[in-house]
Order: sequence, then structure tokens, then C-alpha cells
Amino acid sequence: MDKKPNNNRGRNNSQNNSGSNGPKKGGKKPSNNRNSKSSGQQMPAGKPRPKTTDVARSASRGEAIRAQRRNLDDVNKLIDKYKMAEHSGKPARANVISNDPKLKIIALGGMDSGGSKNMIVVEYKDEAVVIDCGNELGIDLPGINYGIADVSYLEQIKHKLKAYIITHGHLDHIGGLPHIVPRYPAPIYGSNFTIGMVHRFFDNFGIPMPEGFSLETVSMNETTHEKLKIGSFFVELVRVTHSIPGSTVVVLDTPVGRVVCTGDYKLDPKPHDHEISDLERLRELGKEGVLLLLNECLSAAKPGRTPPEATIEGTFVDLFQRSPGRVFVGCFSSNMNRIQMLVNAAVAHNRKIAMDGRSMLSTLEVAIKLGMIKIPKGTFVPIATVPNMKDDGVVIICTGSQGEPNSALQRMSSGDHKHIKLKAQDTVILSSTPIPESGNDRLISGMVDDLNRKNVNVYRHTTREIDGCGPLHVSGHGSLDDYMDMIDMLQPKFVMPIYGSITAQQYHNREAIRRGFPQANIKTIDNGEINEFTKNSMKANGEVPTGIQLVDQTGAVVNNVVVKDRLMLSEDGLVVIILTMDKKTGRLMTSPDIISRGFIYMRDSEELMNLFRSELKRAVIQRYKRVDLDRFKTELKDYVTHFLYEQTQRSPIVIPVVNIISGGGGNGNKNSNNDKGSNSSNGSNDQSNDEPKVPEKTPEQIAQDQQDRFAVLRQQLLGHDPRTD
Ligand SMILES: [Zn+2]
Repeated sequence: MDKKPNNNRGRNNSQNNSGSNGPKKGGKKPSNNRNSKSSGQQMPAGKPRPKTTDVARSASRGEAIRAQRRNLDDVNKLIDKYKMAEHSGKPARANVISNDPKLKIIALGGMDSGGSKNMIVVEYKDEAVVIDCGNELGIDLPGINYGIADVSYLEQIKHKLKAYIITHGHLDHIGGLPHIVPRYPAPIYGSNFTIGMVHRFFDNFGIPMPEGFSLETVSMNETTHEKLKIGSFFVELVRVTHSIPGSTVVVLDTPVGRVVCTGDYKLDPKPHDHEISDLERLRELGKEGVLLLLNECLSAAKPGRTPPEATIEGTFVDLFQRSPGRVFVGCFSSNMNRIQMLVNAAVAHNRKIAMDGRSMLSTLEVAIKLGMIKIPKGTFVPIATVPNMKDDGVVIICTGSQGEPNSALQRMSSGDHKHIKLKAQDTVILSSTPIPESGNDRLISGMVDDLNRKNVNVYRHTTREIDGCGPLHVSGHGSLDDYMDMIDMLQPKFVMPIYGSITAQQYHNREAIRRGFPQANIKTIDNGEINEFTKNSMKANGEVPTGIQLVDQTGAVVNNVVVKDRLMLSEDGLVVIILTMDKKTGRLMTSPDIISRGFIYMRDSEELMNLFRSELKRAVIQRYKRVDLDRFKTELKDYVTHFLYEQTQRSPIVIPVVNIISGGGGNGNKNSNNDKGSNSSNGSNDQSNDEPKVPEKTPEQIAQDQQDRFAVLRQQLLGHDPRTD
């Protein structure tokens, strides 16, 4: 699956540009200043300030501070959904080797957000294995690409860790591995295809692995039921149908009993690759005895059974038959059954096949290597040759069915594709539905609008009746009856639904109980909850720390304090005030330099800026020297926050930068000091006047030098030349 966009949030998007420095000393006066008092410096304290904007009104300082706190509260609410483990408030366990003969099951992820960053720890005495290690896509936070489970708990049990066992190769099951395995190394077990996907993912991972780390994997044969010993556990994989090859149920025999984790599945009776779910083996396992079933439940709110993949084959044949020109099909990159179906339909209609999309080609490579997809010789052509081919002689299979930015189909629809320019006779088929709760509906709608603008024939599953075609997508997940079948086959003593929201878990449990499963033996679970098992009992017993770590586009983990700052900035923007002041007198040596980003467009707010500047001068004179520099800055910050709130009803982040210059004849640049940002320490920025004096420059010249240096600095930082603003 491809990357999701980072949506802009906040209510000030229309103002996201801003200018900067206004007129210098002696610059032109505000042209439409309705209030003569607004020239500021002489204004007695306590009088209401003039209003420069439509929303200006007087407000108490408390109100201004509360407004800022409201922003912070909004941001906190958002970011709290993405807490790291150390902030979750759950007690950490001591790092002791336990002789307690109970089996512990702990989900570090996968029990919230509709089954993402799936990860389950199975622990017995001084041994532990991890089942699945995924990531969470579609996190709508600025600059964040995906999340991974916060695995602080693994730190506590790292000496116990024997293996990672992966059910299948989707990112929500393998996407955490390159982050987590180097920190807590152990071999990764999975089916051939899954291990192929794991290797591809590590190979394409943006960040180099730490020195000394080597990826250790064990490919298992899910057809022959081979059983491998891992410490005192035995592991076996059993084939199930899903939307990626090599999907398996993990069977873990432990000293307490057999634990079965289904991974994602549906029970498709006739999958295109004939790799049907191994129901016979599942029934056999049930007869032998299963202590605990960890049953996937993502779509438990859907009644009945999920239709087989083959349901949609006829639609492709039909559409390929009647499409006059080129046919483009967008689908999920790892669904090889569907891609095989498209290949077969294309070959049957004498069309060549081109493919586009990095994740699709990468999965295809694994599938071809393992003989899981068959493309007849000579039918595959490079995407670059498509423009030179007969229009009715080619099918292009590509990524982008979710409208993901920069995906192949999205680039084609927006006209940015290197090789493909869409035209009126083309047909585009979207063989997917929007991933629930992903926010992709909007992306897809935008893309479909672009396609229709180009008069392309568009076919979608959701509008198939009006588009005049058959079904174009079936889910890779089961429905309620599929999930109940699994319970029937495995006859477990205990059941816990996994990889679905709490609502899905409840639908799953209610139905199982309705069908006669003992209520006391089935339960919903939360991330971090410790459940202990003996041969005859299941009991919740405490919690481990859980949470999420956020990862950016480069693959680096971003502290959520940083993301919180980004959200704060996105609420009401940022205002930086740069003051150059005489050390002795506290006099401003230049007009205050004001930088606004995402707050107001300064060039459109000249009146406000002039008032702001003169108010600043007044505030500086009143406050400077009364207190030390840090206090001065804090007071100035509060003052500015209050002022801007009164004038605009907005509460940007305010950063004062105070630049103190030693007066008394001037000591050159050496005698000035910059106090940048809010992180500076105490007000020790001023320099001693005891050094030998070099009467080179006047304080005004020094101030001008400073100002020039700031201008250069700012240009570097913001890509703006303030002098031309
Ligand atoms: Zn899956």
C-alpha cells in the first residue's frame, strides 16, 4: 500500500502566506489610520487599544491565555490518540525471569484503529515470540507517514525473545519489522511469499540497518505442515485465502496448550490460484485440541460470507471486450490473484500488459520468482512503449486505486505521468473500494473528477450499477459467517477476536455466544492487556505499556512532541519578533522585525502591523531593565499574545528574539550577542565592557549590521528576502 497524504488542518489555511518586515524607522505612516492614538508610544497604559481589524475587541489577558490553551487542548486531544508508551500511564513490569507456568498473551497493537500495526506477544516463562509486526498507515498528522507499535515492553523481555512469526506479507503485518527487529533481534518466520515480501521491504527501506545487524529469516512450507521448534514452542503454518499470496494461520504449540492466530483471511472456496484454505488441516487441529483461538474479526459487522474472488472475473472479461481503446486497471498492489485474473483476461482479448507502480512491480517480482503468477511470454511490455502501441492492444495494470498521491493512476489522471497521457477513448477501471476510515474517499473522488474531465470512461465498484458493469471488487477479509466457521473448525477452549476495532470484536463475540460458545470463554481485548492462561483458565492480569511511534517520510521516528508543535503551528501560526536593543538604555536600535508564518498575511495587514510595531516599542520601554532578560522575554511574549488576540481573535505561537548591543561607543560585532528563540538560557547575553575598546562602529552601525545578518539568516531559513517584501 502506498503512502497517504498529510492533510492540512487548522482553520487558517487561507492565510498561510505572509510577508515580513514593515517600514523601518521613519517609514511611511499608516495610510488609513482611523485612530490618531494608534501612533502608540505616547499612549497611556490602561486605555483601550485602537482596533485595526473587523474582529478586534478588547479582551483580558486571561482570555487571551485561555484561547491559547484551547488550541493546546485541541492539539493534545489529537496527539493523545498517538501516545508513546512512556506516556500511557500504564505500569511497567520489572525485568524478571518468571517461573510462573502460565501462558501470557499480550497485544502490543492491532486491537484498535480497525486492525493496524498488528503485533501480539506470546510469552511463557523465559521465552517469548512475537506474532506479526505491522505498521499503521493513513495517520493524518503533519509530516507523518505511518505509525508503528511502541514496543517499550520488548525492552523488558528482550532476553526472552526467540522469534517473529508473520501471518502474511501486508504492511500492517510486516511494516514495523525494519524499525523493531534491529533493536530486538530474532529470526523472522513466515511462508515463502511472506519472507520474500519481508526481504523486499528491508531492501527498499530508506534507512540503513545498524552495523552488525543481519536479517535472519526462516521460510516455512505451509502446504506440508512442517513444524519447527522455537525454544519450548513448536510453530506450524496453515494456508488460508486472503488478498495476498502466502497467507497463513499461525499454529503455536506451547507447554500450556495450542494457540492459533488466524492472521487476515476469508474462506474463499475457489481462489484463482487454487491455493484454497487448508480446511482439512484446520479441522484436524481442532480435533487435536486448541487452547486459544486468536480470530481475525475486521469485517465482523458484515453478515454472511464474503463472495469469492472469482465473482469479479466476468466483469473484467466483459469490460476488456467492449472497451474501444486502452484499458487501465487500478488495484491493490499485492493482490496477485486479481492481477492474474487481469492478465488472463488481457491475454484472452489479445491485449499486451504493461504495469506501473513501484509497490506493484516489487510484489510481482516476488510472485514471479516463486512461480505464483504466470504471465505468458511476450505479453509483458514496458510502460514506456504503451504510447506507440495500438490502443485496443494493451491493458495497463497499475497502483492508485485509492487515489494515493504520486501513485501511477493518480499521476496519469492529473496529467503528470512521464509516459501516459490519457485521452477520450481510454477506459479506467478502479478495482477496489475505499479503505474504510482511511479518508481515501476524498482522494478517489478528486481523481475520478480529473478522469472525467478528460472524458475517460470510468468504471467503479461503488457506482457499478449506473456505470453499467458487474462487481469490480471483493474484500480479502471474511464476513461474520467466515469467522464463525473458523471457531467451528478449531473448537477452541478460549477465543479472543483480534485485528479489528472494539466494535468488530463485539459483533464477533455476540454472534459466537448466540451460536452457543460459552460466554465466559470469549472476550474482547485491548492493546497492552495481559491475559494469562492455564490449561483450563483465562484471566486478565495487569497491563504492559503500549502506544504508537510516529514515522516520517524518511523512515525516521519522530517524537510526538515535535508533531505537537507542528499541530500548534497549524492552529494559528507563528509570529517571531526580533528586537535589537541598547544594553544600557533598553532603547530599540532598529524598528522591531516581525516575521509571521501562517498567522496573517502581513502585506494585507499594514495597519495592524504598524500598530503592532508601535505597541511593541512602548512595551519594550516599559518592561526592559525592570527584570532579567528571560523574564523580559516571557513578559513580552505574554504581552504580544494578548495584543494579537485582542486584534485578531487568534492566538499564534509567539517567539521573541532579543538581540542586545552594548552601548557606550561600541565595541564592534564582538560585543553583541544574539539571543535566538525561546531556548536560550539566562539573560547573560550582554558582554563585558571591560575589554579594550575599538571605536570602529557606532551602536547604530552595529545595529544595522545585526539587522543585515538577521536578514540573511532569515532568507536562509525561510527562503524570503525581507528587504524585497
Ligand atoms: Zn492482510
